[in-house]
Amino acid sequence: MANLIPIIGLEIHVRLKTKTKMFCGCANIDDSAPVNSAICPVCTGQPGALPALNLEAVHLGVRTGLALECRIPDTSHFDRKNYFYPDLPKGYQISQYDFPISEHGVLVVDVPGQKAPRNTVRIGITRAHLEEDAAKNIHDAKTGSTIVNFNRAGQPLLEIVTEPDFRSPAEAKVFLQELQAILRAANVSLADMEKGFMRCDANISLLEIDENNQPLKAGYNPKTEVKNLNSFRSVERALEHEIERHEQIYATGETPKNTTRGWDENKGETFDQRSKETSADYRFFPEPDLRPLSLADIREKEKGEIPELPAETRARLRKEFGFTEEDAIFLVANAGWANYAEDTMGELGNWLEATDNRTDLSAGEILSQQKEKLGRLAGSWLTNKLAAILGQKGLSIERCNITPENFSEFLHLLYENALNSTNAQKLLLLMVETGADPSHILEEHNLGQMNDPAVLATVVTRVLTQNPAQAEEVRAGKTGVVKWFVGAVMKATEGRANPMEAEKEILRQIGA
Ligand SMILES: [Zn+2]
Repeated sequence: MANLIPIIGLEIHVRLKTKTKMFCGCANIDDSAPVNSAICPVCTGQPGALPALNLEAVHLGVRTGLALECRIPDTSHFDRKNYFYPDLPKGYQISQYDFPISEHGVLVVDVPGQKAPRNTVRIGITRAHLEEDAAKNIHDAKTGSTIVNFNRAGQPLLEIVTEPDFRSPAEAKVFLQELQAILRAANVSLADMEKGFMRCDANISLLEIDENNQPLKAGYNPKTEVKNLNSFRSVERALEHEIERHEQIYATGETPKNTTRGWDENKGETFDQRSKETSADYRFFPEPDLRPLSLADIREKEKGEIPELPAETRARLRKEFGFTEEDAIFLVANAGWANYAEDTMGELGNWLEATDNRTDLSAGEILSQQKEKLGRLAGSWLTNKLAAILGQKGLSIERCNITPENFSEFLHLLYENALNSTNAQKLLLLMVETGADPSHILEEHNLGQMNDPAVLATVVTRVLTQNPAQAEEVRAGKTGVVKWFVGAVMKATEGRANPMEAEKEILRQIGA
């Protein structure tokens, strides 16, 4: 059998962060709000109710299109997409069919762990169009009844459709992560997948290729559409499962059928769902109750609203502050961290410039060396240690007790070796718990590095006297035992000795 490669495309529904719904004045509220607490005749589809377009949604949609390098046409319009379902009281959804607000964009993403040339992939954006969400059916298994929650009906959505440019589940996952970061940076959506602000359908088929990776025939094989994936991990797992399922079908000499499937997170399997209507079944036609959209002015205004995009922020964090690539990815991907890191580094930069008085190197060289060292130090303490402590305590960086000023002072203490790493972790935990100034905690809890050589010498003498047999082993050339003594000295000083100084002092006193 020929080699098979996956051909994957995505459709992503993004809930826009507007104050009100797409076509009425009802609040665009969270799913946690009481059922049917934000509804009106328009969004419940009462006879005679007319839609009024929310321009804020158009602005946010156009801004997203621009951030994805789409072409924004001068005009666009809405269409009716007809189908019958209990969550759709009008019998049609207002969407956009042949004149969407944006088309022909691209997003380039790095794929860690994939070999060149697919370590960086270019994903075409076919289109991004506006539409309204449907209501939500809530089935009650106990009573067998169903409640239709119309709070969601009429909420503004942007549907982003990609070209079938993905060749692995990992590519789809990093694309979605990058898209989420863009949506958050552009302030158009909360883009939280688990909360339904970003939902993903994935199309997948397999294609036979020859040994030069060229397709053996024109066109694509039948595909599966996996609906309503609500986490990055489920997108990746569902696609991996479908690749396996298709491979098994081809292995028996059969060809898979076009199908729509759901994803069972617990079983780790896809399952068959209703087959999908084709666009002919939807009988699209222009929405007669809304005027065509003129986009030229909105496009010009939104060009000025495009913020620094995540890829640019990562590059700047690395260049300006010396963060590693991995740390920059973490800081940009997690809400609030890039700002916190920048504020912290700003404080540190002031300190660097104020205290730099060495003369053996040019000022520029000193700064760039210190910057690199500080960037690595700051990166690992932010993304590793601080993130872990906040994670354990269920706190976001925005709700962290440590001001950037105090965190920069903490890094400053580490930079000057004022405390060892074990005690630094204790100090950081106390800072999170109390919000107090690090120098203050250092003194109060006696966590600082022991810098007096005479005190260290006394401790070493005591430890050696208490362990004569081990001291004898060191004299006999067993160098491994020296480390054991260092450990004993660290224990005796409650972690405050400098391990390197302790080792020197042990060897000096033993005379080895
Ligand atoms: Zn309404």
